[in-house]
Amino acid sequence: MALRLILVGPPGVGKGTQSALIEQNIGSVPLSSGVIFRREIEADTDLGQLAKSYIDRGELVPNGVTIQMMLKRIRSEEVRQNGFILDGFPRTVRQAEALDLELDKISMPLDAVISLEVDDQIVISRLSGRIGCTKCGEIYHATNKPPMREGFCDKCNGPLIIRQDDKPETIQERLRIFRDSTAPVIDHYAKKGLLVKVDGSQAPETVFAEIREKLGQ
Ligand code: AMP
Repeated sequence: MALRLILVGPPGVGKGTQSALIEQNIGSVPLSSGVIFRREIEADTDLGQLAKSYIDRGELVPNGVTIQMMLKRIRSEEVRQNGFILDGFPRTVRQAEALDLELDKISMPLDAVISLEVDDQIVISRLSGRIGCTKCGEIYHATNKPPMREGFCDKCNGPLIIRQDDKPETIQERLRIFRDSTAPVIDHYAKKGLLVKVDGSQAPETVFAEIREKLGQ
């Protein structure tokens, strides 16, 4: 079945990891706004240049461009057929309202909004050691999950980097923005009866098992 899901939670809670597990096991198409922005930055497009100035400071990219970028992908044939897992979008109530309107228009209602919940302290320690592959997106951690060869990806041998926005001051700013702008998105979907809460502090497989069980999959 083509499930249409949103994954919401603070930075570093494991949205990317769960999105990949849902794709592999359930088949919905992962759409991560952060990943799409980073690709635009790498390709040095106009959108990438605009987004970079916000992302490097840990701030949100303006709603208008973000909404356009994501809705375009949601309308694609692949997503219409297979469903989607939104990761990192919507991050503001305005984005959520624009998404709801579009999904209504194309008659593709959401199945669930999964809120991954975890304490700030865990988020800070996860993000502080996070290292990502620039080629395939695989995520490592300096102490919890180091790569076999320092600086290179175990899976594809691509170069590993620490994201500019995973620096300590920027992490604090991202957490503040999550509380101020994104937490209201969770309330927005709770009111619509779509919210599914999952404990994000557990091991990735355990989190995924809980998601599956709660979605009845
Ligand atoms: P992420 O990989 O989801 O942590 O996103 C990295 C950065 O991209 C965020 O800190 C924001 O600067 C930007 N970004 C990602 N998604 C959005 C969004 N839905 N709205 C605004 N900015 C976003």
